[in-house]
Amino acid sequence: MSSSVLVVGGGLVGTSTAYFAAREGLNVTLLEQKHVAYGASGRNPGFVWLHCRNPGWALDVSLKGRDLYDQLRHDLPVPFEFRAEGGLIYFHDDRQEAVFKEFVAARQADGLDMSLIDGKEVKSLVGPVRNDVVGASFCANDAQINTPTVVAALAAGARAEGARLQEGVTVTKLIVADGRVIGVETNEGNFFADTVVIATGAWTQKLMQASGYDVPVGRERLQIMATKPLPRQIRPVVYGPNATKAYSLFRNLPSWDDELFRSRIEEETGFSLLTLASQRANGEILIGCPMDYPGDVDLFPTLGGLSALTEDILADFPGLRGAGIDRVWAGVLPFTSDMVPIVDEIFPGLIVGAGHVFGNSSGPMTGKLISQMLLGEQLEVDMTEVRWNRELDPVIPGHSVQW
Ligand SMILES: Cc1cc2nc3c(=O)[nH]c(=O)nc-3n(C[C@H](O)[C@H](O)[C@H](O)COP(=O)(O)OP(=O)(O)OC[C@H]3O[C@@H](n4cnc5c(N)ncnc54)[C@H](O)[C@@H]3O)c2cc1C
Repeated sequence: MSSSVLVVGGGLVGTSTAYFAAREGLNVTLLEQKHVAYGASGRNPGFVWLHCRNPGWALDVSLKGRDLYDQLRHDLPVPFEFRAEGGLIYFHDDRQEAVFKEFVAARQADGLDMSLIDGKEVKSLVGPVRNDVVGASFCANDAQINTPTVVAALAAGARAEGARLQEGVTVTKLIVADGRVIGVETNEGNFFADTVVIATGAWTQKLMQASGYDVPVGRERLQIMATKPLPRQIRPVVYGPNATKAYSLFRNLPSWDDELFRSRIEEETGFSLLTLASQRANGEILIGCPMDYPGDVDLFPTLGGLSALTEDILADFPGLRGAGIDRVWAGVLPFTSDMVPIVDEIFPGLIVGAGHVFGNSSGPMTGKLISQMLLGEQLEVDMTEVRWNRELDPVIPGHSVQW
């Protein structure tokens, strides 16, 4: 099929597309407006999170995506940080236990390696967590990556396979001729190729609007703090009970009760709080995340957000009270109304791979699947759920969403 490909965007989706397509012998150029990993892929805390993936495309791709990391560790020319020590969601109110029990049973039935662990075990895995922790759902399939290192390794792999990666090039518009996309306009002039792949995450809606397409990918901002390097004290990736509210898999359980999961800090600050912690190999602990919904991509943390984050983390991780803070940042996560991305050829010569809520488990696999599309091969996953022509609701700036 196509022999030349322009990939727009240097995140997990774009760099993996470039890597897999170049490996198959296609002539690949990747254009990135700033630098690779500038977007969400360089700013997230690294959860490879199978725990709460809905059955269907999300879980299928995530299981394959989790395994793909083992392959990439072997194949890519430079190493990246990956740790397979599971993930957990702890709770500290006895009344929540019934919900977690039901959740774990449902997930076991979906094929995940999941168990309910007690408070003592949680404390042994997560040193700084509060002492009154009662238990947790634990998923052995979950893992952790240091996302900028993964993007850098994919970019190095793409280059080694012959792809050209051009940073500082902003795509402004698609070029269409004879009923087909044939290239893009940029601040560095026009680029042409047989196929253009849009992998611009949270920037997708605006970019596509400039070319007359309505691609309903919304923007959710999450704020993070990183401590200075500390001795190893957190092994799995960790969510607090507030995180349950973000996931339909919890909210749809018969035992679910909103009242049991109310948070005073959320109510007082107005932020939804995805309470989380993960510790990287260098010892720094990433903590987060207040969530809000700016109209445009806004990469600045706010005082209100950081204050809510601090209060929430101090309540649940008293062991971090004295931890020095090294950096704070925000990232913008893309989403669609049904919480799975669009991965499809939406016009001749134009493939969109955007709207990934869970890009750590699904991003590299999306690149592999797009490369199979480019080669006209049979795709290894059923793509019905992520087709362009499905019904998607519009995204409304400022409106909160649940995954
Ligand atoms: C704070 C935070 C926490 C998260 N936590 C997790 C998590 O723990 N686990 C998980 O699975 N997912 C998580 N996510 C989501 C995950 O980060 C995304 O699903 C994933 O990074 C999306 O990858 P992407 O390649 O589609 O987009 P991005 O990584 O955003 O890449 C898009 C790239 O396109 C570039 N670009 C945009 N417009 C243009 C243009 N016009 N021209 C050229 N280049 C352009 C941008 O600069 C950017 O580098 C989190 C997101 C955030 C923000």
